[in-house]
Amino acid sequence: MARVINFSAGPAVLPLEVLQQAQAELTDWQGSGMSVMEVSHRSKAFIRVAEQAEADLRQLLKVPDDYAVLFLQGGATTHFALIPMNLSSPEQPLDYLVTGSWSKKASKEAAAVRKISVVADGAAANYMDVPARGAWKLNGDAAYFHYCANETISGLEIHEPPAVGAVPLVADMSSTILSRPVDVSRFGLIYAGAQKNIGPSGLVILIVRKDLLQRAPADLPGILKYSAHAAEGSMLNTPPTFSWYIAGLVFAWLLRQGGLEKIGALNHRKAERLYQAIDRSSFYSNPVAKPHRSWMNVPFTLARPELDGEFLKQAEKAGLTNLKGHRSVGGMRASIYNAMTEEGVVALVEFMADFEKRQG
Ligand code: PMP
Repeated sequence: MARVINFSAGPAVLPLEVLQQAQAELTDWQGSGMSVMEVSHRSKAFIRVAEQAEADLRQLLKVPDDYAVLFLQGGATTHFALIPMNLSSPEQPLDYLVTGSWSKKASKEAAAVRKISVVADGAAANYMDVPARGAWKLNGDAAYFHYCANETISGLEIHEPPAVGAVPLVADMSSTILSRPVDVSRFGLIYAGAQKNIGPSGLVILIVRKDLLQRAPADLPGILKYSAHAAEGSMLNTPPTFSWYIAGLVFAWLLRQGGLEKIGALNHRKAERLYQAIDRSSFYSNPVAKPHRSWMNVPFTLARPELDGEFLKQAEKAGLTNLKGHRSVGGMRASIYNAMTEEGVVALVEFMADFEKRQG
């Protein structure tokens, strides 16, 4: 069967070249007679893979030397809890901006272990806009300010890092990391689950300013301590080696594409094509405030929701798959991560126009 055009929100499409390389060397990796899954994480060959992946990620994001890069586990959700445990002590306030489902979940997990303060909550605008910066109730002495750079479910993106003074910025970039250049030096900590723009789910990448690693309370168990993982090169215990290897292949692929300037321009173009198609039509609509529309997740609804099922059925037949919106919001959602080609987006836009003509 030919590959479909996969708009899944995550786990999501990976570059075909990466899958083919992994397939080609699956049973005999680098002439070892073994797969990369079957070798020790402490072997020279795997250490080379691990180090190259980190070096390539550092090059892509221009990560400054005073930042550690960690390859950890547990999905982004585990780090909703580990970040407050590592970056603060129980008496410090923590600032959380709530702009949708994921930042809300992050704040709830943090609230289980620390005293958090929600600086603003977009509920009044149904999370379709970011609360005005002037209305945020910031704590000047917060241990950090947490936000979700891209709300995957609603398709709401905060395109520029918020200005919060000297308080370190902590960003959940799970669904936007590597989609364009970012100035890492603006952040205290960036984290991202891998299953959108990086590789297999379970792996989580953290980029953290080294001085912040010293904040963890002494009684935090070693396995939960970022500083302990950093000291061991993310090999405190057995890391998810296959995921790390695939991430490395994706980073090398991104470098071959010309890096994040190039990929960012392409992503912008892909998103614009889709939003323009939605805005020009009276049949499709996207409710997110324009300055905050996501480049990666594009939800849209049909003027006649009774046609949702038919839309999905016909799309599937045309090879366009996983367009159903999140169960909490309904409608459609096209996730157009780095590995989604411009041709894939064009195919969707053409299908939408055709469907509208026939059914609208
Ligand atoms: N944050 C964001 C922005 C996400 O999109 C997701 C998953 N879709 C998560 C966190 C949770 O990731 P995980 O399921 O890997 O814990």
